[in-house]
Amino acid sequence: MKRAIRPAVLIALAYVLIGAGWILFSDMALEHMVSDPQLAATLQTIKGWLYVGLTGLLLFFLLVKALTYIEQLNQRDSLTGLLRPYLFTRYLEDSLDACQKNQQHLMLVCLDIDGFKEANRLLGYAGGDTLLRQLAVALKHHYHADDLIARLGTDQFALAKVLTEPQDDIESHAVELNQLFSAVVREFDLTLSCSVGLAKFPRDARNGQELLFAAQSALKEAKRSGQGMIRQFNQALSETERERQALLKDLRHTIDNDKLSLVYQPQFSVDDGGLTGCEVLVRWNCPQRGFVGPDVFIPLAERNNLISGITAFVVRQANKELSGAGLLGTSIHRVSVNISAQEFNSEKLMAALMRMLNQSPQLYPYLQLEITETAALSDLAASVRLLTRLREQGLKFSIDDFGTGYSSLAMLKNLPIDEIKIDKDFIHDLLDQPRVRAIVEAVTTMAHSLDISVVAEGVETQAQLEQIRFCGCHEVQGYLTARPMNIDHLKEFVRSQWSTSAVNLSHHET
Ligand code: C2E
Ligand code: CA
Ligand code: CA
Repeated sequence: MKRAIRPAVLIALAYVLIGAGWILFSDMALEHMVSDPQLAATLQTIKGWLYVGLTGLLLFFLLVKALTYIEQLNQRDSLTGLLRPYLFTRYLEDSLDACQKNQQHLMLVCLDIDGFKEANRLLGYAGGDTLLRQLAVALKHHYHADDLIARLGTDQFALAKVLTEPQDDIESHAVELNQLFSAVVREFDLTLSCSVGLAKFPRDARNGQELLFAAQSALKEAKRSGQGMIRQFNQALSETERERQALLKDLRHTIDNDKLSLVYQPQFSVDDGGLTGCEVLVRWNCPQRGFVGPDVFIPLAERNNLISGITAFVVRQANKELSGAGLLGTSIHRVSVNISAQEFNSEKLMAALMRMLNQSPQLYPYLQLEITETAALSDLAASVRLLTRLREQGLKFSIDDFGTGYSSLAMLKNLPIDEIKIDKDFIHDLLDQPRVRAIVEAVTTMAHSLDISVVAEGVETQAQLEQIRFCGCHEVQGYLTARPMNIDHLKEFVRSQWSTSAVNLSHHET
């Protein structure tokens, strides 16, 4: 504000001085030149109007200049001087109208810096800003004044260019842009890359909004494929993305309204067929879509930060259903709940999970958390610390899908765990592949000596059961002994088991 006062005071002062000078000198000149009082009065009036007219004109030009400047300030990005999204889309629509009239084609490129956070960390915020500014300068320098260049987000830029040749290979423009970007970051001694999404008018869209959506979808696809990638818009991919978004919306609604449900799959002792515990599995029966498998919606939830909502539901509901059915501590002594890698590796999500577990006091003493090998391996030392701490708080841990990772034996050696679950694929290959049998046998023997229990998962046939018995596995879970079932069926199942005391593991047909 203070910076604005000085020029304003100067302009007002100049106005007063010019005005006073004008009045003083023009009156004196008039007095000198005109002796007829009548004519003098008329000239005075004209002089007054002239003054009003001239100052009005001056005021008009000053205002136009100031307002244009303010408008530009709002529409140009203050850091880079590039167009802001609003003005960019307006100009883009104008360009597309012109393209339509002249039957020209236009290319829209969206560029996003990969891992810009890291650049900010290395260069500091001021350095990061300089990098963005330099990139903007390079873009302005490289492209024509008619090309539209905008900054769409912190580290995201867009470029719209009318193509001289309709068949122009737009990917070559993206490669050029990539090289330009590399040249800029090289000056900062960085090895950053950027992802590029491309769309073409009229091939991919009918208007500016659609074209921008198309280029952004292509950019998302490029990001998904890795770093430094270039992708063109693809109609089929975009429909998949739309479907994914719709599924995500339904899933979010289902979680928010507690509309998921649970099934329980019993586990049995290989020795005596007694019920040892159960695994809780989540189900989504969507009224519109029908049954959606956890293999579909769990990864979707993980990618979109919804997984802790699902785990919270699973723990709460399992606590309610199992204790309500009177099964905890009577027939069921261990309840396994799946924890996703994303949760296990996040301090914040694990703290939220612990709060949730503490609110489920009936279930807590029987809980066993299943984590995958890859989750525990991402930082083995941190996993050892976390598992040790949580086991001190009475929790048990199982390694799910054991054998699918690369360092299974290192895990056995280092991790304080209670159980491993041999992956279904191993069980499946047990009969035909002697090497698999040798591995399962060796792992079981080693686990045994470390006091770690071994569960064979996905056992479907009596022959597989015989093999796992032969390998020394302690427990079995699979369609052969029991399929996953809802709480009412589980109650019924347990009651019928009660009369026979255990499943008869030796008399099942293959
Ligand atoms: P998982 O933890 O390995 O779960 C075992 C899967 O094997 C379950 O599939 C179960 O129904 C299936 N299964 C059990 N016995 C047999 C058998 O004899 N043969 C065959 N072919 N399959 C068998 P489901 O319920 O479809 O779950 C798939 C995956 O989804 C789970 O694999 C787990 O990774 C994830 N998942 C399920 N529920 C939850 C949950 O509550 N939270 C999290 N984070 N993940 C879950
Ligand atoms: Ca599991
Ligand atoms: Ca598993």
